Amino acid sequence: MREIILVLLLLSCGTPKLSTQTTSQLSKPHLLKIESEAKSRTNDTYQLLADLVDTYPHRLSGSAMLESAIAWSKATLDKRGLSATLEPVMVPNWVRGQESLEISLDGGTTWRTIPLIGLGGTVATKNVEEFEIVVANSYEDLGKLDVKGKAVLFDVPMPSHEDGSGNYGAVSHYRMDGPNKASNAGASAMLLRSLTTRSMRTPHTGMLDYDDASPKIPAAAISTEDSELISRASRQGKIVKAKLLLSGAYSGEGKSQSSNVVAEIMGAELPKEVVVISAHIDSWDVGQGAHDDGGGCVAVMQALSIIKDLGVTPKRTIRMVHFTNEENGLEGGKAYAKAHQDDVHVLALESDTGSFTPRGLRYQGDETLGNRVRQWSRYLGSMNRVDKGFAGADLIPLTKKKIPAVGVWLDTKHYFDLHHTAADTLDKVDKHDLAKQVELIAKVAWLAANE
Ligand SMILES: [Zn+2]
Repeated sequence: MREIILVLLLLSCGTPKLSTQTTSQLSKPHLLKIESEAKSRTNDTYQLLADLVDTYPHRLSGSAMLESAIAWSKATLDKRGLSATLEPVMVPNWVRGQESLEISLDGGTTWRTIPLIGLGGTVATKNVEEFEIVVANSYEDLGKLDVKGKAVLFDVPMPSHEDGSGNYGAVSHYRMDGPNKASNAGASAMLLRSLTTRSMRTPHTGMLDYDDASPKIPAAAISTEDSELISRASRQGKIVKAKLLLSGAYSGEGKSQSSNVVAEIMGAELPKEVVVISAHIDSWDVGQGAHDDGGGCVAVMQALSIIKDLGVTPKRTIRMVHFTNEENGLEGGKAYAKAHQDDVHVLALESDTGSFTPRGLRYQGDETLGNRVRQWSRYLGSMNRVDKGFAGADLIPLTKKKIPAVGVWLDTKHYFDLHHTAADTLDKVDKHDLAKQVELIAKVAWLAANE
């Protein structure tokens, strides 16, 4: 507190000694304090995550659960003296209905029920509809197969990166655009092999993106195990059939009111210059969204709270954002960029690749940013890896304006095992990994706000 008063005094006097004060804020004691606080708050951070995801799982846009989670976020920040504001955002409100899938591998004589999950935003079937399933291993296959009136199964395995993590970008377009491609070819439904490299027969949901050029067809994911089962049967020339039920739909006008949660520590010297630390508070309507993105949410909350409790005001403003509607619309990210278009963002950070062991930072920007990130990484101990890469989906509207952005680089070897499934639950998050992530985010925010 004394130091805050000193900074305010120096500010009001306009004395040049201010720069000495802020330069010293970069010094090791503050970073060491951040490190020890992140460690000593390990249980507190994990309890925050438990409070969020045990009490408010299924935080899908348009749901009462998401709005309760947002209210919890504001109340928790307020309690920690970080008075938060809610910034209004209109979000889609698609609601999952009844879903089931039975398949027959003998042309309809015997049937078995297999796990299925509708893709977010899918149109419904007309009650239970029966289709023949045709297996495609690529879009090119659609031109060679007779898919008219049938259900196309895209059985395309997710490849792995060298480190063993799933290559999401290589296959996610089958989920987003596959329904359009299948519909254009004349199909009446689309099934998708879940986007994962490992499976315990758990189907993965996620957003699809209908275009206006083709009729909207029902679309759902099945497990990799069942996708391979159907492929094997099909290769043997068996007639595979499906009885599919999907009854999800948009509610009311198709949109409802939500909010981004914003809390900040005003900068002492350059308050108009802002460092953003962010995550998204919405999730899919299965599991608990513990890795995606509950862990990121509590990490940025705790990071801001630690910086506040340092008792020293940073040179620039540090702002925490919990974005709404990352999963099926990015309306939170778009609304934030619009509402804050006049702010000077010196850095935007997002954590949205789970809460496994943090490795470092991926930067999305030019080499000036690369050099800044490499400077910060000297203070990050074992979390000092730096690479170019994607910063985060909520930051797309900011990176389009060339705002320097970084994503927290986490070990994602097992991220896609859980991603968008019923298995994304609290027990999969290690509290020490989460505490290290808090340390990384708080240090980067502090360094960027004071450089
Ligand atoms: Zn996410």
